[in-house]
Amino acid sequence: MTNIILLGPPGAGKGTQAARLVEGRNMIQLSTGDMLRAARTSGTEMGKRVAEVMDRGELVTDEIVIGLIREQLEGDEKGGFIFDGFPRTLAQADALEALMAEMGKTLDCAIELQVNDEVLVDRIVGRAAEAAAAGKPVRADDNEESLKIRLMEYYKKTSPLLGYYHAKGKLEGVDGLAEMDKVEASIAAILDA
Ligand code: AMP
Repeated sequence: MTNIILLGPPGAGKGTQAARLVEGRNMIQLSTGDMLRAARTSGTEMGKRVAEVMDRGELVTDEIVIGLIREQLEGDEKGGFIFDGFPRTLAQADALEALMAEMGKTLDCAIELQVNDEVLVDRIVGRAAEAAAAGKPVRADDNEESLKIRLMEYYKKTSPLLGYYHAKGKLEGVDGLAEMDKVEASIAAILDA
């Protein structure tokens, strides 16, 4: 059983790598972004409440995302959990630790996908163009204005988690600018160590 966090700014490749871990290691991807988008589509009260915040590129409240994660941790854990896009604040990190302890689970490591900002803008603008060309819905927050705010939120509120997990001896880093297969191999090497 391996429980890991994928850390990195929007566009770093967390979702892509999580999908590969699900496929290759039978792990469970817990993406709070996906959960929030599902809540919007299904028109729940919470979904409606967070829609505007998400579209602007700001973070939704800790309380909401912690609640979503709590529900999921009670389900089947298969090959372990991949936390994708959670935690994003120190309060969420503390809450995750408490939840895991309560459930007798442990967090193995937090893996940082290291990238630079220019690449992120290109990837996200590219992701939006690809979706549009394929007739798929384009994320409302995949535009340059929201992206600027998402990046700022990352640096202000999420990047302190790098220090947090480093201090716990749980931080690992991989080069997120490498080819996807290479990133996948680097993550595999960490998990198999
Ligand atoms: P993502 O798909 O991970 O890029 O998340 C999309 C949006 O959902 C973010 O910009 C936030 O508005 C919201 N969101 C997702 N996860 C979290 C989280 N852990 N804490 C706060 N807001 C979140």
